[in-house]
Amino acid sequence: MLVQFGESRLELAQGDITTQQVDAIVNAANSGLHGGGGVDGAIHRAAGPELMQETDRVYPDGCPTGEAVATAAYGLPAKFVFHAVGPIWRGGGQNEADLLGSAYCRCLELAVQHNCRSIAFPAISTGVYGYPIDLAAETSLAVVRDFLQEQGRPELVRFVLFSGGSYGAFARVLELMAN
Ligand code: ADP
Repeated sequence: MLVQFGESRLELAQGDITTQQVDAIVNAANSGLHGGGGVDGAIHRAAGPELMQETDRVYPDGCPTGEAVATAAYGLPAKFVFHAVGPIWRGGGQNEADLLGSAYCRCLELAVQHNCRSIAFPAISTGVYGYPIDLAAETSLAVVRDFLQEQGRPELVRFVLFSGGSYGAFARVLELMAN
């Protein structure tokens, strides 16, 4: 699914983020940047051990929730990995939506700073961190839409959803947004 916002395209795809041919891919990291399961594990496996060596060396204190940091992408087809730390879902009253939105926004700012024309996101926080997929889709897509409408870049933002269920949830929200 594809929607145009000004000069930029917002795309939804189902698949594996590690194979994406884009300038930057986003990792759903934890605040220690120590790696883990899910998309984090897949990205580290595909990138190789240099990725962890760089996060350990450059970001020994990790990254706060709602923020993101950039590294090289090593064995991945992308040029950069942006390690974003989304919130753990605690019922919705702990500022989760703002923190999730801020993690996406920081990645988009990093994309602009690093002259990235294209960026791919996973559905941050919707795995082990337990964020309900429909609510995550609303917040994530709204933040990206607003950024593209205000900044006019990057040229392409692609959400790479791992399961059919998460693709469907994002597609339903994006369809409402586009109409
Ligand atoms: P978090 O701790 O932020 O919840 P997870 O990695 O557990 O991070 O899950 C985030 C989302 O990434 C989930 O929707 C999960 O299905 C998805 N995911 C897992 N592996 C991949 C992958 N290789 N590519 C894209 N998305 C993935």
